[in-house]
Amino acid sequence: MLRITKDEALARATEEAGGAPRCEMCVLAGAGARGLALRETANAVAVLSRYAVRRGHVLVVLRDHREAIDELPAEDWLALSRLAWEATRALAAVLSPVRTYVAALGTVTQRANSFPHVHQHVVPLFDGGTSDRPAEVFTWQGGVLCYEPGEAEALTAQLRARWPA
Ligand SMILES: [Zn+2]
Repeated sequence: MLRITKDEALARATEEAGGAPRCEMCVLAGAGARGLALRETANAVAVLSRYAVRRGHVLVVLRDHREAIDELPAEDWLALSRLAWEATRALAAVLSPVRTYVAALGTVTQRANSFPHVHQHVVPLFDGGTSDRPAEVFTWQGGVLCYEPGEAEALTAQLRARWPA
């Protein structure tokens, strides 16, 4: 993987959005159609984050653009959480992390690196030391990992092969 700086990542994400405001989570929720999904259900899609804070960072995205967890039907939240749990299993089988974080973050307003659209982060950790603290993991301050050509596709295939039935 290639580590780029926060500023480079923000510039790249903004360029990819074509300068027009759009919800990247809505784009990802349609990823199944482009063959990128690790797993998809009627309610949610799991996909590798293209701006990863750790190798194997998975995003689980609600299909519908909904912005508040407390306004979701329970079945939507449970569908997201089910996929996140499945992702932890697949990541454990393929990458053997020492621990895995699951977090629902997001912002009130849309930014280049954060979106109000409800989603969960599944982040495998490999260090076991201070760099695994949440404040060190859930930030772009230390840079962002981008996959080299073909790398994300290969990891996607590995995770699909070990995804729980
Ligand atoms: Zn959206």
